[in-house]
Amino acid sequence: MAKHNNPDTESMVNFDREHIWHPYTSMLDPLPVFPVESASGVRLKLTDGRELIDGMSSWWAAIHGYNHPKLNHAITEQLSRMAHVMFGGLTHAPAVSLCRKLIEITPEPLQNIFLADSGSVSVEVAIKMALQYWQAEGKPQKDRLLTVCSGYHGDTFGAMAVCDPITGMHSLFTGVLPQHYFVEAPQCSFDTPWKDCYISELTETLEQHHEAIAAVIIEPVVQGAGGMRFYSPRYLTELRQLCDKYHTLLIFDEIATGFGRTGKMFASEHADVAPDIMCVGKALTGGYMTLAATLTTTNIAQTISGASPGVFMHGPTFMGNPLACAVANASIDLLLESDWQENVSRIEQQLKVELEPARHADAVQDVRTLGAIGVMEMKQPVNQQKVQQQLVDAGVWLRPFGKLIYVMPPYIIRPDELRQLTRAMVTIATTI
Ligand SMILES: *Cc1c(COP(=O)(O)O)cnc(C)c1O
Repeated sequence: MAKHNNPDTESMVNFDREHIWHPYTSMLDPLPVFPVESASGVRLKLTDGRELIDGMSSWWAAIHGYNHPKLNHAITEQLSRMAHVMFGGLTHAPAVSLCRKLIEITPEPLQNIFLADSGSVSVEVAIKMALQYWQAEGKPQKDRLLTVCSGYHGDTFGAMAVCDPITGMHSLFTGVLPQHYFVEAPQCSFDTPWKDCYISELTETLEQHHEAIAAVIIEPVVQGAGGMRFYSPRYLTELRQLCDKYHTLLIFDEIATGFGRTGKMFASEHADVAPDIMCVGKALTGGYMTLAATLTTTNIAQTISGASPGVFMHGPTFMGNPLACAVANASIDLLLESDWQENVSRIEQQLKVELEPARHADAVQDVRTLGAIGVMEMKQPVNQQKVQQQLVDAGVWLRPFGKLIYVMPPYIIRPDELRQLTRAMVTIATTI
């Protein structure tokens, strides 16, 4: 348990425990949560004064670290103009400037943008775009999706329906979730030489069912929350060709992989493949606020708009929130001005070297790294509470789940700070 000397902190934590849900938690027997007082750079400061080096970037998002002066400035400067105005019938410079930037840095065919309020919503929007597109094309029977196992696309119903059927717990919602087509997760690791058998089930499924399939949705190169799996970019090249051949749209979910995490600005660049629809989120605002976006091609946007009802049917209340757009603008500028490729590749090299000793530990199944992501897959699921406490005691913040203990630090992390994270991981691996 965390030490709380302060009675206020104690009462806060007790209230939290009794009343507040955290991601995927129980209200009967919640695991301890650690109260944070502030965060700066790569450090989270707990209310008891302890400082933890952050290895999670708050789930892929805080790529520049916390409390960054430029991001703070962008948001306070925007706050003095307006915190929010509705996006129906109004527009503003932060949104337009952000969309300009996104169109510039994403694959060339993507020219039209929908600003969404979270990653899950951007996936809902992507799915709706695909369905409305085929309706507009006079093929409403193309209303199913095809995806791979071990995927993760969010927690809302449309997104959940394309998450891994086991870990996404489809069984809980059978009868409510739409039924889609699933094929095995890509079996080719990032640099295994290509064999056509890696794509054979996908090919057969498209061959047989393409008349019912609106789109294929996939996380390019890195499958995140569904298992932290890395696969060959060649899979995406082949997939693009198959989607063209079978008149199926291709949706890339770059919510986790976007903004440099895998060593490229977007993971699709490893394959030099452009999707028809792309979702970004998480690191979009540098971890400051919730914001996501769905991008698509001129053709899809115009086709949707050219058929009844003549509009794209979605419009969140907080669409294009100016504070979120302003900080996203500043975050992208900061990324582009920085030597992020050098940082990510330095992190990658260090992770490769320093996690290597874990490979030989009995409890470890696999160790893999790509860009600023390091994964230790154990043979057995880890005791989350125990391991979490050990990590906090070692002065680091990592959030193990299932069999995975993984690290994806802010890009600004220094080698000595990263070493503290990898050392904690290797210690767990060898003492578990
Ligand atoms: C996190 C994530 C989502 C969902 O984003 P939220 O902002 O949590 O709704 C969707 N797809 C991928 C690949 C993600 O990593």
